[in-house]
Amino acid sequence: MATNPAPVVVWFRKDLRTDDNAALAAAAQTGRPVLPLYILEPVEAGTGPLGAAQRWWLHHALAALAKSLSGLGAPLVLRAGPADAALDTVIAESGADTIHWNRRHDPPGMAIDRKIKAVLKARSLVATSFAGQLLHDPTRLLTGEKKPFRVYTPFWKALERAGEPHEPIDPPARLIGFPGSVASDRLEDWHLAPERPDWAAPFHEVWTPGEAAARERLETFVDGALDGYAVDRDRPALHATSMLSPYLALGEISPARIWHATRGLDAPAGDLVHFRKELAWREFCYHLHFHFPALAEKNWNERFDAFPWEELGEVFTLWTRGLTGYPIVDAGMRQLWRHGWMHNRARMITASFLIKHLMIDWRHGETWFRDTLVDADAASNAANWQWVAGSGADASPFFRIFNPILQGEKFDPDGAYVRRFVPELENLDAAWIHKPFDAPQAALARAGVDLGKTYPKPLVDHGHARQRALAAYKSLKADGA
Ligand code: FAD
Repeated sequence: MATNPAPVVVWFRKDLRTDDNAALAAAAQTGRPVLPLYILEPVEAGTGPLGAAQRWWLHHALAALAKSLSGLGAPLVLRAGPADAALDTVIAESGADTIHWNRRHDPPGMAIDRKIKAVLKARSLVATSFAGQLLHDPTRLLTGEKKPFRVYTPFWKALERAGEPHEPIDPPARLIGFPGSVASDRLEDWHLAPERPDWAAPFHEVWTPGEAAARERLETFVDGALDGYAVDRDRPALHATSMLSPYLALGEISPARIWHATRGLDAPAGDLVHFRKELAWREFCYHLHFHFPALAEKNWNERFDAFPWEELGEVFTLWTRGLTGYPIVDAGMRQLWRHGWMHNRARMITASFLIKHLMIDWRHGETWFRDTLVDADAASNAANWQWVAGSGADASPFFRIFNPILQGEKFDPDGAYVRRFVPELENLDAAWIHKPFDAPQAALARAGVDLGKTYPKPLVDHGHARQRALAAYKSLKADGA
């Protein structure tokens, strides 16, 4: 029995789970009352949910977490405002002398945490941080010269050499709740989920936020789609990837729990390694963001600073709405709007189209994704946009320009993905589904497609757009870049 009756505050951030939660487990082990706390930090602080779609997710994730914690005996307290002020009032109201949290690795969040830790320590309070958002601490993996990695493959090798990530910790069997009273906001009053109109209603077709749903999804994936993952992961019409990204983004599942779930399975080794390599891409993005905090604002490769981007105009709006006239691009953008998520292959195609066909600065695309993705993640989003743009670390070269017709034909051969998200093309023959603009009039008429009326004509001609992008890139190089 603990002699100190003061509660331990567990400050939840991007770790909205009871499973493999080192901060919570350590608090439970003290034998003292536990006071779980979530602070809705101001968006300007650069922390918290990243956009409207993720706010919807956060609402449901917090509801699920609150339920689990109440079940364990320690209800969740909600506060809104700058983290230091919110913590101060909770400490004052509860008499807590110890604060636990799991480290976050986004630069603005880290700056806030460092400051808070120093202040708490100066007041002789105990502030302890734990690991858990990543497989390995981003400071741990460095090159032989003790420098950050710039290239993925040596990073992956270093990650492999670093050994297995920590064994996940099971959730506490029960918690001792704080017996006193501490004020809490009501989740509904935060209005995180849209109401009128409820544009997120279709999200429920595919998503159930919460850690129980995350574990279920993990189990379904390792028992099924993991077998064949290496090949099928590129086919957007198939349910061949884990779809764990939104759960990882708000920490409803830990990467260590996922990593260890893929141990000792029967699935082919190639599939297992490929899947782990994707988890390692997430780590690589965090590594880049940690060592280059301006990843979402500045070209990692400064040579791109002189790129002659087009003005933002109507074409950007048409891209966001999935009305570019290229079916695979439109399917991706409409999947994003409908479900707050887009298949990785489609993310690459749509991002490439915006940057190279429309010559719009990647930062506008990054911002749109940040607002519309339920898995919006500061590191993964920025690093991947820069990867596509060619301006990032270990990026795809700019001159490799995706042909949206060939990408569609290769990765969505029968057009099932397009038919699902672009219903006005549903009845078009597979031969034309990725290039309705080349289809004979009879084929269009048979499918009820009237180009320019029921479905748009292409915004740009692929060949022309390609030449324009390459010329812009060449001018960049000619400028001595
Ligand atoms: P799986 O294939 O099942 O992979 C398992 C996990 O590995 C994912 O959940 C994810 O955490 C990680 N992962 C897989 N691919 C990548 C990758 N390329 N980069 C980083 N991590 C990866 N992912 C985000 O989580 N948040 C974002 O904001 C985000 N923005 C992106 C923007 C662009 C332009 C592109 C091209 C990719 C972006 N990604 C982002 C990466 C990737 O598309 C998603 O992580 C993936 O589609 C999630 O689906 P999944 O969980 O089924 O992945």
